[in-house]
Amino acid sequence: MILPIVAYGDAVLKKKAKEIDKDYPNLNDLIENMYETMYGAYGVGLAAPQVGLPIRLFLVDTEPFSEDEDLSDKEKEQMKNFKKTFINAQILEEEGDEWAFNEGCLSIPDVREDVFRKPKIKIQYQDENFETHVEEYDGLIARVIQHEYDHIEGVLFTDKLSSFKKRLIKGKLTNISKGKIKIDYKMRFPAMSRKR
Ligand SMILES: [Zn+2]
Repeated sequence: MILPIVAYGDAVLKKKAKEIDKDYPNLNDLIENMYETMYGAYGVGLAAPQVGLPIRLFLVDTEPFSEDEDLSDKEKEQMKNFKKTFINAQILEEEGDEWAFNEGCLSIPDVREDVFRKPKIKIQYQDENFETHVEEYDGLIARVIQHEYDHIEGVLFTDKLSSFKKRLIKGKLTNISKGKIKIDYKMRFPAMSRKR
């Protein structure tokens, strides 16, 4: 089932999300629905707050990046095969010199900006069976994980921009929160739901 994606401006996107355990109601269905929602919107990642739930759960599938001509064959192969569900994730370490990448977000359609992040991460998380893993990632995969991880910390990529950039996109962001935008996937807008 495709879930509506929460748009910029909704308070749930600013909340630090809570841990869950294996008794969380209908977790398998939720995960399945989130994958369907992410694929339906051509995203490479989706976090639970983006479907209105302030819990520490996000998914990543970098397959769409495997078409990127700027990547080496080895990287393309990596992107093609990286699909993972992260529950109760904690980033343990981030290191290296920050690099810029043009990020976008399903909750902030049509806004793309360069965001600086460190290239290497070590992350602890639980999988769908609540087995704990500690893994290291770098490059584009680390980038997508960092973006999704920010969502469960209540942080959006637009929070990381300079105040000058923030001013430039302010009008666009206001329009998004009011639903004044054309999108081809299902969304939920904070300013509109308040009126109902
Ligand atoms: Zn996002």
